[in-house]
Amino acid sequence: MTHHTDLDTSAHIALVEKYAAHNYHPLPVVLSHGEGAWVTDVEGNRYLDCLAGYSALNFGHGHPRLLARAHEQLDRLTLTSRAFLNDQLGPFAEGLAGLTRKEVVLPMNTGAEAVETAIKVARKWGYRVKGVPEDSATIVVMEGNFHGRTTTIISFSDDKVARDDYGPFTPGFRTVSYGDADALRAAVDDTTVAVLLEPIQGEGGVVIPPEGFLREVRQICDGAGALMIADEVQSGLARTGRTFACDHEDVTPDIYVMGKALGGGIYPVSAIAADRAILDVITPGSHGSTFGGNPLAAAIGHEVVTMLAEGEFQRRAAELGALLEQGLRPLVGHGLETIRIRGLWAGLDIEPGGPSGRAMSEQLMARGILAKDTHGSTIRLAPPLVVDEEEIGMLVDAVTASLA
Ligand code: PLP
Repeated sequence: MTHHTDLDTSAHIALVEKYAAHNYHPLPVVLSHGEGAWVTDVEGNRYLDCLAGYSALNFGHGHPRLLARAHEQLDRLTLTSRAFLNDQLGPFAEGLAGLTRKEVVLPMNTGAEAVETAIKVARKWGYRVKGVPEDSATIVVMEGNFHGRTTTIISFSDDKVARDDYGPFTPGFRTVSYGDADALRAAVDDTTVAVLLEPIQGEGGVVIPPEGFLREVRQICDGAGALMIADEVQSGLARTGRTFACDHEDVTPDIYVMGKALGGGIYPVSAIAADRAILDVITPGSHGSTFGGNPLAAAIGHEVVTMLAEGEFQRRAAELGALLEQGLRPLVGHGLETIRIRGLWAGLDIEPGGPSGRAMSEQLMARGILAKDTHGSTIRLAPPLVVDEEEIGMLVDAVTASLA
């Protein structure tokens, strides 16, 4: 008899070990959450978690308000079939619509599903509202993008590792250089239903586009009659010191895509938000998800939205981000080639001749900091927004010492 469960579990653990070994050696096996920004491994070592679940843990590990809300809902109702409304969905949707200043929201589960939802909405809107001939819609995307790992999404990725051997790929996407408004202008035409971009490219290494680019994207979309879709899965929900990264340029996209921190780091919750004129193209039966907007997800998502509406996390990210920048900036030319930072989100490029990104992340781990390298010589820092000044000081000291 085959024990599928055992086999599947060990295969999964093997994959996770490969991932972890790719980042660190020896592997920290993280056991439990401590207070807020800290995690503890099986040997009792504590780490300041500057990966923060790739920005899913904006509110830290085990935030008491989120845990309380989740426990309360677990004892009441966790799932209904979509034929029934649940009493948590309305308040969540209303809160999220308020936060995004959009009329309606469509809840899903993962970031990739929310991106897929936005793509489907844009295409359908293109055919039904814009009048694009059937099956000829195009969506313009950016070089260096990361929007998830479904077959359609990796079809327009330029990351070989994410894409190779998964073809045939979904057509209908054009790629332009990130930050190049002229290239974008040249790429849009009558078939363009949307421009899809991350306002800051997270997985790309916290790449911030040139000042004014997001405003130009907005203008180009308006001129072309195309939807601007902002994937704020990683950049949104206070990470950058504002509710959304688009806020830094006072730009409002047509569709917000949100995920990660929307579930407070304890449950997968994602959503898109848009006005009715766009989202009404989705009719009953034409799109959906078993778990999207379920009572537990909606209860947690509602608490997250309520916390964000209070503004405290945005303020903390802005103030502590400024402190982090103050501490890191002097390292440019002294170990670091460049730093890119917005709120509590930083990409550090190590100077040629310095330690590799991997060696640097191991040095940081030895000093009690979890951080991830990318592209060989870049370190990304995304501490939970509950860190305090002392912890920022610790982080700066650890980076400084690891470069010495
Ligand atoms: N979009 C962006 C900008 C992301 O950074 C990610 C994940 O890192 C995703 C989408 C995909 O989210 P998920 O892993 O929840 O599918």
